[in-house]
Amino acid sequence: MRAQVIDDISEFRELRIAGSIEYRERSDGSLWGIAFVCLCGCGNESYLPMRGSGRPHEWDWDGNREAPTVSLSIFNTGMPCRWHGWLRAGEWQSC
Ligand SMILES: [Zn+2]
Repeated sequence: MRAQVIDDISEFRELRIAGSIEYRERSDGSLWGIAFVCLCGCGNESYLPMRGSGRPHEWDWDGNREAPTVSLSIFNTGMPCRWHGWLRAGEWQSC
């Protein structure tokens, strides 16, 4: 499934479009993290802090805004669905 980039994920809170992502930036424009709506269709929102954010778990991003790749894998342990997968070249892949 394609990762659809949107300006403000909260505008989609009622629609909860699975796989939509929002870049959250610092004031200098660098990437703080990526918010996304879970892929499974449960409608829950999650957040991936990027390296340097100071969070206990951080992800790396390849710098591509149109077709982002992040690592590690994404495991929604805090959600009932426990969706697990990857975001690679702008495509979500379930494990
Ligand atoms: Zn889910």
